[in-house]
Amino acid sequence: MGRILFILVLLAVSFYVVKLIRTKMDEAPKEIKKDTKSTNNNMVKCLHCGLHIPEEEAIKQGDKTFCSLEHAKEEL
Ligand SMILES: [Zn+2]
Repeated sequence: MGRILFILVLLAVSFYVVKLIRTKMDEAPKEIKKDTKSTNNNMVKCLHCGLHIPEEEAIKQGDKTFCSLEHAKEEL
């Protein structure tokens, strides 16, 4: 009887550990996704017209950002 109880406790503990690992594994990719999403959606303001555009689409002149080459040229 004592042996069965020991096996049951062992099973319960192993299930708990597996569950704990699974929840940790599920959380990790979500955090990575969140980070990439926030960097991809980083909006910058055009110094000329004030339009907000994604950072990767912006024209950069030093530390200044513009929505188009025309606006970048007008500010220089
Ligand atoms: Zn502009």
